[in-house]
Amino acid sequence: MAKDKDYRKLINTGRWRKLRRSVLTAHPLCERCYDEGYITPASEVHHRRPVEYGVDYAEKHRLMYDPGNLCALCHDCHVKVHTEMGRSGKEAARRRNAEVVDAVINRFFNDG
Ligand SMILES: [Zn+2]
Repeated sequence: MAKDKDYRKLINTGRWRKLRRSVLTAHPLCERCYDEGYITPASEVHHRRPVEYGVDYAEKHRLMYDPGNLCALCHDCHVKVHTEMGRSGKEAARRRNAEVVDAVINRFFNDG
């Protein structure tokens, strides 16, 4: 997903750099590798709920800096997480569109 201007504004701050550093200090290992039994140093901080999902600036602000929304990952896992989210996002959109098409077909062609 393309990063919007609010995201760039919120991430280019001393507040984010400080928070990011504190997350990596508190969680020095990649949480995803750790769950799978691997010990990998974490180097990146991931937002579980993407900041861009915020409906307005206030919600994006909350998502960006909410410690509960953050998790420490290695670079490979961070890429994987985003690839998976992109895929499931597209899949969900495709399913929703298919349901709408089905509903229209049922209404207009299967009536009675
Ligand atoms: Zn990892």
